[in-house]
Amino acid sequence: MASSYPELGLFIDNRLRPGRGEGERVVINPASGEALARLPIASRDDLDDALASAERAFAGWRKTSALERSNILRKAANIIRARLDDYARIMTLEQGKVLMESRIELSAAADIIDWFAEEGRRAYGRVIPSRQPDIRYSTLMQPVGPVAAFSPWNFPAVIPARKVAASLAAGCTCIIKPAEETPGTMLAIAQAFAEAGLPEGVLSVVTGHPSEISTYLIASPIIRKVSFTGSTSVGREIARLAGDSIKRVTLELGGHAPVLVLEDADVEKAAATSAAFKFRNAGQVCIAPTRFYVHEKVHDEFVESLSAKAGALKVADGLSQGAQMGPMANPRRPEAMESLIGDAVKAGARVAAGGESGANRGFFWQPTVLADVPETARIMNEEPFGPVAVVRRISSTDEAIAAANRLPFGLAAYAFTRSTANSIRLGEEVETGMLGINNMMINLAETPFGGVKDSGYGSEGGSEGLEAYLNVKLVSES
Ligand code: NAD
Repeated sequence: MASSYPELGLFIDNRLRPGRGEGERVVINPASGEALARLPIASRDDLDDALASAERAFAGWRKTSALERSNILRKAANIIRARLDDYARIMTLEQGKVLMESRIELSAAADIIDWFAEEGRRAYGRVIPSRQPDIRYSTLMQPVGPVAAFSPWNFPAVIPARKVAASLAAGCTCIIKPAEETPGTMLAIAQAFAEAGLPEGVLSVVTGHPSEISTYLIASPIIRKVSFTGSTSVGREIARLAGDSIKRVTLELGGHAPVLVLEDADVEKAAATSAAFKFRNAGQVCIAPTRFYVHEKVHDEFVESLSAKAGALKVADGLSQGAQMGPMANPRRPEAMESLIGDAVKAGARVAAGGESGANRGFFWQPTVLADVPETARIMNEEPFGPVAVVRRISSTDEAIAAANRLPFGLAAYAFTRSTANSIRLGEEVETGMLGINNMMINLAETPFGGVKDSGYGSEGGSEGLEAYLNVKLVSES
């Protein structure tokens, strides 16, 4: 087991402790395939401890002033910033992304915690003009209660930060299950909260068998709110479980983001922006640009430029000097790349860059561009969640919009055009939760993040992200 990787445990009452559950699973370094540590497996008794602790702590935390909560959150954010290098190394070891991306992600996580620390102080109710002079109507914003949160492996800091910071700022307590692949980063963040003065029980971290944990926590009467980020298929199951006990849910699920490069686009800008956002985190990003619908007049120039940029990227262990893209996070991803790309090529797609693993150990896949991909190929319909861009020619804006809206997903969409009329039309007609026009910067602490259709519901980030953890109570006084 690697010595620079931290000791793992369940984090309950601000202390690390071993899991008492059965079964065995290891955390793996995706750059080498080697084991980093044993994953702690929570038993039902462990989950009961976390639940009891979250319930106990809620009684005090909900009454802690918004200012005091904010001060603790801000302190935790500063501790994360002070330990950026150590935490980034943990993230790269367990997830694979290059060290610079891990640092950027942890800074963004601290930024998100600061945002919610401030936003929690502005959880205002309102006074509603009354019909009668002797009755006053007002609303109070109150924390929903203990939260069960489930986060995936692609962003081990930013996604948990959105869920945890919003819960805590609203006055809720939170039990989070990070992904089995990436528990170390979340544990490091939890440690920062504890050191910042977070009372025992306000934040717990549990790991183990995902469906056992989610089924047990969501069914518990102690839990009042559920937040999940992951695949649409698991999201369906989570929504069903939450539906059984009428719990509020936020779901951030899969996407398959279209990029519409219209006739009047700045082609070089479109290719450069797309390359930067397509290949970060080896394409394992739910808002990654993926289906490129490019006008025939600019198609060849775009494919050539995007392919050249993809081919120039240095793919290596995320800890190594000069690496620009690391391995994929787990062996399921390169297997999926092989299958989806193989299917597309068989259906007539042309490989313009990459197209293979290019490594004999670790979970690597080369940055790939496929051109002339038939709309019926699986990769045009299933989210590849990897470093592959699929390109098709279109001949009109109508065709581009229809193609964008063709799938059941609606998380992110992008377009490049110099025309204001086109921009306005895209804003009205593309079915998506987030739309980037001439840029892909759609993911900031202060902006709402969420999808429509099969990509889920609810927003994380922005003031909407806090509302997800608040109940509205009407008070009629006379
Ligand atoms: P998966 O659905 O098996 O797992 C995704 C995440 O959900 C993991 O962190 C896992 O621990 C968790 N999970 C799985 N089953 C669960 C359950 N019953 N209860 C609670 N949590 C559970 O998928 P995967 O093989 O890890 O990735 C496959 C696909 O998932 C990707 O192709 C992508 O579409 C999607 N995905 C989306 C995001 C996102 O940011 N929206 C992140 C990771 C994966």
